[in-house]
Amino acid sequence: MKLPFERECMYCGAFFVPNTSKQIYCQNICASRHYKERVKRRKLSELGFDASFPIKPIIPKELYTIYEASLLLGISKQALSRLIKKNQIKTVKSEGLTKITYVTVNQLLKSRNDEY
Ligand SMILES: [Zn+2]
Repeated sequence: MKLPFERECMYCGAFFVPNTSKQIYCQNICASRHYKERVKRRKLSELGFDASFPIKPIIPKELYTIYEASLLLGISKQALSRLIKKNQIKTVKSEGLTKITYVTVNQLLKSRNDEY
C-alpha cells in the first residue's frame, strides 16, 4: 500500500520515503540512470529513432517478446519484425511466441552503441 509520505521513484517506479521534498529518485543510481536514459533518448531522436518508448526499464530476464526487445533497442516493433524476417536477428520459440534472448538483445545494443 502507498503511504501518504511515500513517493514513486521517477525512474524505477519503486515507492520510497524521501529525505527531502526535492528527492524524486529512490536512490542515486536511479538518478544517474535516468539522466543517461534521457541523453540516450535525445541521441536516438536526433538519429531519427522513435524515442517515445516508456522510460521505465524492463526487468532483465532470459527471454524478451518482440515488443519488449523493441523497447530496449529503441526501435519500433515493426522495424524489429522486419529485421527478424530478414534473419538479421536470432529468435527462439517459446510457448508459441517468437522471443529474443537476453544475450541477443545485449549483442544488438552493443553493436548499436558501437555505431555511435
Ligand atoms: Zn528508483
